[in-house]
Amino acid sequence: VSTWSAVPAGPPDPILGVTEAFKADKDPRKINLGVGAYRDGNGKPYVLESVQKAEKLLTISKPDKEYLPITGLADFTKRAALLAYGADSVPLNQGAVAVTQSISGTGALRIGGAFLARHYPHSKVIYLPVPSWGNHTPIFRDSGLEVRGYRYFDKKTVGLDFEGLKADLRAAPEQSIVLLHACAHNPTGVDPTQVQWAEISDIVKERKLFPFFDMAYQGFASGDTARDAFAVRHFVAEGHQIALAQSFAKNMGLYGERVGAFSLVTADAAEKARVDSQMKIVIRPMYSNPPIHGALVANAILGDTALYDQWESEVKGMADRIISMREKLYGMLTHDLKTPGEWGHIKSQIGMFSFTGLNPAQTKVLAEKAHVYMTADGRISMAGLNANNIEYFATSVDAAVK
Ligand code: PMP
Repeated sequence: VSTWSAVPAGPPDPILGVTEAFKADKDPRKINLGVGAYRDGNGKPYVLESVQKAEKLLTISKPDKEYLPITGLADFTKRAALLAYGADSVPLNQGAVAVTQSISGTGALRIGGAFLARHYPHSKVIYLPVPSWGNHTPIFRDSGLEVRGYRYFDKKTVGLDFEGLKADLRAAPEQSIVLLHACAHNPTGVDPTQVQWAEISDIVKERKLFPFFDMAYQGFASGDTARDAFAVRHFVAEGHQIALAQSFAKNMGLYGERVGAFSLVTADAAEKARVDSQMKIVIRPMYSNPPIHGALVANAILGDTALYDQWESEVKGMADRIISMREKLYGMLTHDLKTPGEWGHIKSQIGMFSFTGLNPAQTKVLAEKAHVYMTADGRISMAGLNANNIEYFATSVDAAVK
């Protein structure tokens, strides 16, 4: 009998499984709104021009392929932290932010989970928003933390359940860990306002909670990297010692290059040095050291004024195209088709995704009858829509709803 005969078949990944179904569909009208990767106006993957230029520069300078240090390319992590925390950040300027390169955002979350499981002296419980990105629960559970939820989304208003959020954070045991999406909440597209963030910061302080920010979409939400970092910078200015996971997958289009960073705000440079040493001890047995190419690309962009400016305008271009698709879709459903229901959330939601409010039965009909694929919770990637397919999508939604 085989060694593995008792291994049961696991369920397919709820997000990547959508792509599998899409690929198997032969209908020319098919649309994939499942995966969270940006597509250009023609539905094609988009390699940013700033990235292409950075790669050209690298071809000329021919960097070697030696191992990076355990915590990655130091110039890159310094610049990544500057992008997130901002030039005025007190702990950053005091040399009190411990930062390591990571295998994109996922790896940053995993390093953070493992570090907290080992060194956070208080609680081993992390509170996630309900709902959250589907990978958060397994990442933190596999890191050794206990996962619980706090209310976030109100199905009735298709908006933020701010009262529920506040009540749940107030009821959480003191010194619990709380995961916050810094901007462009996935999957709902619903973010707190700046005033609400300030209130959340007060509650986190009152309850002595430990804030862990996941910032996978800096620049992608509003088109402005500083604005999208508001929550992170506000918390740090308020004196919170935060943990932060950063990803350059979306905002630089470096998905497969796996470029990210994880950081912890510490008290001072001496404490940072001790934390750095323990980060290395967490990372070394996982993968020794991170990949080099993507970090060199991101570093070239972040470190050169002209490339940086071009990148920022490209991020804004991606954000703007998504916002324009929101407006178009809203207009088609509300004015052209008079689709039953309230669709204002399509316009007000932020970032890559929209939580449409479509139910699992309707998403099933859309896949089977219209060849339109999305996750079963009704989340669509706005980036999958373009001038060529948006009308077909709107009429398909209209038919599914009516
Ligand atoms: N956090 C959130 C909220 C995300 O949506 C994603 C990407 N879907 C990630 C983290 C991590 O992505 P990556 O590992 O590709 O950077």
